[in-house]
Amino acid sequence: MTRSEELFQHAQVRIPGGVNSPVRAFRSVGGTPRFIASATGAWLTDADGRRYVDYIGSWGPMILGHQCEPVREAILRQAQIGVSYGAPTELEVQMADLLCERVPGLEMVRMCNSGTEATMSALRLARGATGRDHILKFEGCYHGHGDALLVKAGSGLLTFGVPTSPGVPADLAKYTLTATYNDLASAQAIFAEYGDRIAAIIVEPVAGNMNCVPPAPGFLEGLRQLCDDSGSLLIFDEVMTGFRVGPRGATGVYGVRADLITLGKIIGGGLPVGAFGGAATVMRHLAPIGPVYQAGTLSGNPLAMAAGLAILRALADETIYQRLDATTATLLAGLQQAADAAGIAFTTTQVGSMFGLYFGHGPIRGLADVSACDQDRFKRFFHLMLDRGVYLAPSAYEAGFLSAAHGPDEIAHTLDAARASFAALAAA
Ligand code: PMP
Repeated sequence: MTRSEELFQHAQVRIPGGVNSPVRAFRSVGGTPRFIASATGAWLTDADGRRYVDYIGSWGPMILGHQCEPVREAILRQAQIGVSYGAPTELEVQMADLLCERVPGLEMVRMCNSGTEATMSALRLARGATGRDHILKFEGCYHGHGDALLVKAGSGLLTFGVPTSPGVPADLAKYTLTATYNDLASAQAIFAEYGDRIAAIIVEPVAGNMNCVPPAPGFLEGLRQLCDDSGSLLIFDEVMTGFRVGPRGATGVYGVRADLITLGKIIGGGLPVGAFGGAATVMRHLAPIGPVYQAGTLSGNPLAMAAGLAILRALADETIYQRLDATTATLLAGLQQAADAAGIAFTTTQVGSMFGLYFGHGPIRGLADVSACDQDRFKRFFHLMLDRGVYLAPSAYEAGFLSAAHGPDEIAHTLDAARASFAALAAA
């Protein structure tokens, strides 16, 4: 039995499913999750001493690789002078300044502890600021596990939301309307019916939780227009895309302004963090200057602020993004070539250093296209790659990420593994 197998057995006694976040349990690909002992650069080392090129990057934060020196130093330095005070610090002011300087549309920002908190709080703020109760989200977009957001579409366009999870009251879920990602007409139809009751549209400007689906031309612009016409707020959930798809996030890449933006992942450098911000006129509704309540014992935590500031300062060098984009393109072209050579139907998507891999021909425009791909092949490919030291996301519905620590050696190692894995798939 491997150490990961032992640990997994033990973990399942004390932790539901053996994990503290469901996708880590490998449920959708089968097998035993690897328990990670350490990580450096682009590599993970598991409890059995096996090494893997990491394409998850802690689900996004590790854009400069694991143990990147400025972040490591910042955490160590802060740990020596205090890890939490429950009082304001200069670090928080620096973080707020930096986020507002870099992200178009941010005039004020509030820190919290996770992406889930950021989206929950942004929605409450949007509801409080507009005096409306309904929200519109898109099927296949994930915004954390807040009650109002654990909702998927019913069958008809205009059906009320039904909860995806037991524990979410139907009376609450009914305020969550759901449209189809990249299908502006589906959102327009809902606005025709509910427009004056919708507080906000919340959307991943690049969908990264149904694999990696870029916005169709005109989609984000169309959502902006709907909000302008009906007095609703547009919320870009940039928890994943912020400082990932470009130095100004998806807002910078696509040039569409949201009223509120949620952030997380990268801005904490790997420590627990979230943030939401936007126009001062909206943000001024928040307590203590406004009536909309939001708070947190550890919000603006000094360790997280120190780590986040270090990574964001390093990312001021925008050439990092050019290199990341180029390395990602090289990887994806190599994978496509390997799949083609083996005669495997395969396609990829890329936005900056976020990518999607699909066992199908594409194009990939939304959840229906992703679901139509060969999930079984993905599962086998995932394990063939894992056995060869390449750690892809353990689900066909998750985006992959590169880091600046992924260089020619890591790409070569990955493509060698891919050639062998595609050949094994073709032979099966
Ligand atoms: N929004 C998006 C777009 C996300 O990708 C995630 C997490 N993957 C969240 C919100 C929730 O963030 P957290 O897991 O930090 O609560």
